[in-house]
Amino acid sequence: MSKDAMREEAERLIKEAMARNIKVKTGNTRIETKCGKCGAPNRVSAEPGQTRVKFSCKECGHKQQTL
Ligand SMILES: [Zn+2]
Repeated sequence: MSKDAMREEAERLIKEAMARNIKVKTGNTRIETKCGKCGAPNRVSAEPGQTRVKFSCKECGHKQQTL
């Protein structure tokens, strides 16, 4: 891969990441929930209107759903 192609690829990835961040900020709601296993507070982003969201606890990694 040439240097120009690598730079273009890097710029594309940055743009995609920024687009994703904007989408999360504007379109998704944040649900604050507690891990059912260790009790650690977790913040989960959810699609609007969606209340049951699968997530993994950031402390212990336990997979679960928000209530
Ligand atoms: Zn946990």
